[in-house]
Amino acid sequence: MLITKLKDREEIISFFDLRPFVFKCFGCKEVYFPEEEVDRLIEDNRNKITGIARVDYLCREEFSKVYIEKVSLEIERSGGVVVFSCGVGVQVIAKLLEEKKVLAGCDTYYLNGFQGLSVQDFNCQQCGECYLNYTGGICPITACSKGLLNGPCGGAKNGKCEVNPEMDCGWELIYKRLKKIGKEEILKKKKVLVRDYRRIITEKPVVKE
Ligand code: SF4
Ligand code: SF4
Repeated sequence: MLITKLKDREEIISFFDLRPFVFKCFGCKEVYFPEEEVDRLIEDNRNKITGIARVDYLCREEFSKVYIEKVSLEIERSGGVVVFSCGVGVQVIAKLLEEKKVLAGCDTYYLNGFQGLSVQDFNCQQCGECYLNYTGGICPITACSKGLLNGPCGGAKNGKCEVNPEMDCGWELIYKRLKKIGKEEILKKKKVLVRDYRRIITEKPVVKE
């Protein structure tokens, strides 16, 4: 299980300067999603967005492709796309809209319980502080073997990870994605990110032998 919570209001309000398109996901009914808060926020900023789509299971790439096609004109007119969903949904939209700036409106928190069974290209460790807005929509925790937040370890060879040569180096992917949307400067300007481990709910289920 997981919980999604809105990011700080100040941060989200700044997203509306982009004149964005908005996706909000309501796929997992068993998951807490701050839908009323999101609706209020959107209502207050209605004249600053090019459109909105309420969708289910943004994490399913095939579904998301169809939704994107339906609203392609509004997305084209926007200066970016804001996604209110768990970290997986944001990563899927960022992959499908590689040329657009895609921003996460929520942080995703771990919650005890059944985590679901599905095969996904993307993963979210529910770290409680989503970094996708600094990393071009690619999760530095799950796409990098060491979960580094401040750039590559320097060990990659030919784009492959030094820990697992079967996988692409997550930080090389992040750099390429940021370059594609003309935002690679973020990597120079951003403050050193320190992970706040207090945001992880640590009481995992006790497994009795
Ligand atoms: S940074 Fe990664 S692990 Fe953390 S909430 Fe975002 S997608 Fe999930
Ligand atoms: S090679 Fe890349 S993905 Fe692998 S640990 Fe280093 S930075 Fe992370």
